[in-house]
Amino acid sequence: MTPTPAPPSRRVLLASPRSWCAGVDRAVLAVEKALEQYGPPIYVRHEIVHNKHVVRTLQQKGAVFVDHVDEIPEGAIVLFSAHGVAPTVHTEAAARGLKTIDATCPLVTKVHREAVRYAQLDYDIVLIGHEGHEEVIGTTGEAPDHITLVDGPADVAGLSVRDESKVVWLSQTTLSVDETTETVSALEARFTQLTSPPSDDICYATQNRQSAVKKLAERAELVVIVGSTNSSNSQRMVEVALTAGAPTARLVDCADEIDEAWLADVTTVGLSSGASVPDTLVDDVLQWLADRGYTDVETVTAAEESITFALPHELRRDLR
Ligand code: SF4
Repeated sequence: MTPTPAPPSRRVLLASPRSWCAGVDRAVLAVEKALEQYGPPIYVRHEIVHNKHVVRTLQQKGAVFVDHVDEIPEGAIVLFSAHGVAPTVHTEAAARGLKTIDATCPLVTKVHREAVRYAQLDYDIVLIGHEGHEEVIGTTGEAPDHITLVDGPADVAGLSVRDESKVVWLSQTTLSVDETTETVSALEARFTQLTSPPSDDICYATQNRQSAVKKLAERAELVVIVGSTNSSNSQRMVEVALTAGAPTARLVDCADEIDEAWLADVTTVGLSSGASVPDTLVDDVLQWLADRGYTDVETVTAAEESITFALPHELRRDLR
C-alpha cells in the first residue's frame, strides 16, 4: 500500500525588524511617564501613534485624546504626538496657557528643520507625502508659502515653481522607499537643478521594515501585516509585500481580524507589523497561527536596530 504523503509543513516567516520604532517607543513612554508624574488627565492632541490598541490602553490609564487644542481646559497638560505639529498649534496652546510636552519624533523634527532652512533660503519646497496626513500637515505648517505637496510621480507635471534653480524636495518619513524614488526621478527629469535633502527623510524604521517584508514576500503565499488602517507605514508594508511578489497581503489590527479562509492552500505565511504596533499583538498572531498548525517559525532579518531617543526635554526636566 502506498503511504499517505505527509502534509506540507506549515511555517511562518517572521520579519525582523518589526513593531515599535524608537520614535513610537518614546512617544508612548512619554504619555505613561506624564500620567505618573502629573496624574490624569493628560490630554494628547491626536492619536499619540496610529494604533488603536495603543490608544485604547492609554485611554484606560487616563490619557484623553482630542483633535484640537481648543477642546482642552485652560492650564491643562497637553502632549503632542509623534507625527509633529505646525507652529500655529504651539501658539494656540500657549494662548490657552497649556503646559506642553512635545513628543514629535526627532526624525520628523529633522524634516521640519529642513523645511524652515530651505524656506529661509527662499527655495520652493516640494514635499512628497500623503495629503491630510498629520505629519504632512505639521511639516507644511513650518513654511506654508514655500511648500507644495506631491503625492506621486503623476503630480510632478502640474507643478509650478518661481525659480527652477531653487527647488528642493523633502518627504514624509513613512513613505514607500521605491515609490518615493520614482517620484524623485520624475522631479529630477523636470527640474535638472533639483536639490535633495542632506539625508534621507524616510526614516530608518520605515526603510528597515520595508526591506524585511520584501525579503519574506518572495517566499510567502500570504503576508499578514499587523497595524491600523490609519498607519501610513503599515499600509506601505502591505503595498511593498504585494509589489515584492506576495500573492496576497492583508492588514489586520489584531489576531481576531484574521479570516481562516485566507489560509486555504497556504503553507507559508509572512508576518510583520508597522512601527506603531506593540510586539505583543504580533505574538498573538503567532499563537493564532500556531493553533492552526503554523508552528515552524523562521526569522527573516533585514537589519539590526539599536536606536533609542531620550524622552521630551520638558518631561525629563520635571522627572529630575
Ligand atoms: Fe520616527 Fe520613523 Fe518611528 Fe515615525 S516611523 S516615529 S519617523 S522612527
